[in-house]
Amino acid sequence: MKTSDYDIVVVGGGLAGLASAALLAHHGKKVALLERGKLGGRAMTIHMKGFHFNFGAHAIYGRDKSYLSVIEKELGLNVHWEDFKQLNAKYDMGEESVVIPSSMGGLLQTKLLKGKNKFRFAYHILFTTLGFEKGDPNLSIQEWIELHNLSPAVREMMLNLAATNFFSGDPDTIPSDIFFDYYRRLFKTNIPVSFIQGGWEVLINEFKRVITENGGDILEKTKITHLKTDETRVLSAETKRHRFTADQFVFAVPPEQLQALFINTSLKTELKRYTDYEPTYVMFYDVGLKKQINNDFTYIFDKNREMFITDISYYDMEAAPPGGQLLQAVAYLRDEQVYDPEAHEEIKQNLEAFYDKHYPGWRDHLAIPRASKKPVLQAVRWAMNQRGLPTHFSQIENAHFAGDWCDVHGQLSERSFASAYIVADAALNVNKPDNTSASH
Ligand SMILES: Cc1cc2nc3c(=O)[nH]c(=O)nc-3n(C[C@H](O)[C@H](O)[C@H](O)COP(=O)(O)OP(=O)(O)OC[C@H]3O[C@@H](n4cnc5c(N)ncnc54)[C@H](O)[C@@H]3O)c2cc1C
Repeated sequence: MKTSDYDIVVVGGGLAGLASAALLAHHGKKVALLERGKLGGRAMTIHMKGFHFNFGAHAIYGRDKSYLSVIEKELGLNVHWEDFKQLNAKYDMGEESVVIPSSMGGLLQTKLLKGKNKFRFAYHILFTTLGFEKGDPNLSIQEWIELHNLSPAVREMMLNLAATNFFSGDPDTIPSDIFFDYYRRLFKTNIPVSFIQGGWEVLINEFKRVITENGGDILEKTKITHLKTDETRVLSAETKRHRFTADQFVFAVPPEQLQALFINTSLKTELKRYTDYEPTYVMFYDVGLKKQINNDFTYIFDKNREMFITDISYYDMEAAPPGGQLLQAVAYLRDEQVYDPEAHEEIKQNLEAFYDKHYPGWRDHLAIPRASKKPVLQAVRWAMNQRGLPTHFSQIENAHFAGDWCDVHGQLSERSFASAYIVADAALNVNKPDNTSASH
C-alpha cells in the first residue's frame, strides 16, 4: 500500500473541506485534500447549453458579517459580488405581491403589517438587535410567541420571516434563541444577500488555487473508506490502496460518513445521534430560457405553498448566455413528502404553475430545464432537539469536524465556512502555548 505523510489531511472536498484546506495551506501547513468524487460537493456547477447551473442561488447571507468575508480577505480570493436589491424581493400573497422586509428600513415600509402591529414588531426587532431579546433554548419560536401573547399578525410575520430565512417548511419548530440570534445578526448587516459572480465554481477554483499555490495536494476520486486510530488519535485515513498519515485530520464529510469512518472508535455512539437528525430537503426546478422575461421583482416567495423563484441571471451575469435567463424555483419538502413520488409530481406541477403565474411565456422560451427531487439543502435542520455537530470532540484529540451540519452560527454554506475557519484556527494553534480559538 502506498503511504503519504502530511501535516494535515482534509477529508471531503465540499466548501467546508476546500475552505479549511486553503486556510491551512495558506498558513504554511503541508496539506492533502481528499475528495471521493469531484470538488465542490453540493456546491458543484454544471454547464449545459451555455447556462451555468449551480446548486442553489449561490447566495451569501449577511456577507459583511460573514466568515466567508473573513476567509476571502485572509486568502486574497478573487471573487466578485452582486448585492441583492431589497425592494426586489416579494411575497406572493395570492391577489397581490408585497415587498419582503429584510432590514429595519424594509420593516418600516412593509405593507404586511399595519399600525400597532408594525410598531410592536419593530419593537421586538429593535430589542433583538440591541441584544436584550435572546429567546430561550428550551422554547421553540412558536412557544415563545404564545408565551408573549403576540397578536396574530405579528405572530404570522415572525413565522413568515423564519420560513424564508431559515429555509424551513416548519418554521414554528425553530429554537427561539437561534431565531433571535439570527435576527440580531441579520439586522446589523448592510448587505443581507449577495450573489457570487460566476457561481460556486469561481469560489471553488479560488480555493483550489490557494491550496496548490501553497504546495498542497488535491486528490479527487479518492474515497476514504476507513481510519486507523489508537485510543485518542487518528493515525491514518485510508482508501483501498493509499494510506494518508498526518498529525491532524479535518473531516468535512456528512454525519453518516463520519459514523462509518469512526465505527471502531469511542466516537461511535456520539456520532450516531447526528445521523438521526433531519436535514432540510428541497425540490428545485431550474429553467434556462432563450429570452428574458422581466418583472418588478427578482425573488418571489409563495407563502402558502412554501416555494420561491429567484432570477439567478439578474444577479449572476455569467449564469445565462447573452439575452437568456436562468430562473430557479425551489420548494421545501415536508417530512412526509421526501420519499413520496406522487408528492414530488404534485410539487413539480405547482412549481410549473408558479412559473406560469409570474413568468408567463416561459414554456415558449425554454432552452433547458434542470430538476432535482430531494437534494439536502442543509444537513442538520434548525429544530428543537437538533443541535449541530461539534467541531471537536475531546476523546479524539487530533480530529476536527467541518460542514454545514456543524453547531456554528449562520445558514447553509455560512455554516460550512464558519466551521472551516474554526477548525483551521484550532488546528493551526494546536501546539501553541496560548491555544485560543478564533471568535467572530
Ligand atoms: C438546492 C440547494 C440550494 C442551495 N442554495 C444555497 C444558497 O443559495 N446559499 C448557500 O449559502 N447555500 C446554499 N445551499 C447549501 C450549500 O450548497 C451547502 O451548505 C454547502 O455546499 C455544503 O458544503 P459542505 O462542504 O459543508 O458539504 P458537502 O457539499 O456535502 O461536502 C461534503 C463532501 O465530502 C465528500 N465525501 C463524502 N464522503 C467522503 C469520503 N469518504 N471520502 C472523501 N470524500 C467524501 C462528498 O463527496 C462531498 O464533496 C444550497 C444547497 C442546495 C442543495
